[in-house]
Amino acid sequence: MNSCVYCHEQIEQPLTWSTWLTVKKNSVLCAFCTGKLEIISGKRCKVCSRAWGSSICLDCQQWRELGDNIERNYSIFHYNDTIREMITQWKFRGDYLLREIFRNELKSAFEKQFADNNAPLAIVPIPLSESRMQERGFNQSLALAEMLDAPVKQVLRRKSGEKQAKKNRKARLKRDNPFFIAEPLKQAALIVDDIYTTGTTVRQAAQQLKLHGCPAVYSLTIARS
Ligand SMILES: [Zn+2]
Ligand SMILES: [Zn+2]
Repeated sequence: MNSCVYCHEQIEQPLTWSTWLTVKKNSVLCAFCTGKLEIISGKRCKVCSRAWGSSICLDCQQWRELGDNIERNYSIFHYNDTIREMITQWKFRGDYLLREIFRNELKSAFEKQFADNNAPLAIVPIPLSESRMQERGFNQSLALAEMLDAPVKQVLRRKSGEKQAKKNRKARLKRDNPFFIAEPLKQAALIVDDIYTTGTTVRQAAQQLKLHGCPAVYSLTIARS
């Protein structure tokens, strides 16, 4: 019997005909923890995945006015308390195996949303600075990227010692871009990361990619806050 990777309770898997006949996807979470995750369903902003009634949310309309540089972001879960704690435990307490929580949903979102893209996508992780990498031991974005069956291109780098100044979005995008390109990517990119909050990070990364010849940038994120 397996135990839940998050709460460590035993996972009850009664052997019935239905579980026996359907090849079960590996469930690494118990039913209780699974039940606390909220998949985004229903109407969403077609650019950023925010739960939103009409097609594009106000935030994305503002990005468009600045000349948006991402095609769209697709997020899987609502950023609720449970997913926040799971991500915190995974990222900041170095519990690398917790990425398994996201594997199936991530792969299925990739297949449904991005696998049929007209041009094949390179998976691009958001880099950590070297000091952050040493402190944390792994890059959560790369850990997610590597779970997809597609080529991962680590073409972005992150400057160290960045400051999170409180500036407006245009200034943040233009002047305080923490990313630079190690190697130009000449194909469309899919950025994979854990959380989409303001959308600034993915757009800063996209800006660098596109300045160096990347034709289009999409993103796939675990949670939409
Ligand atoms: Zn559990
Ligand atoms: Zn939006």
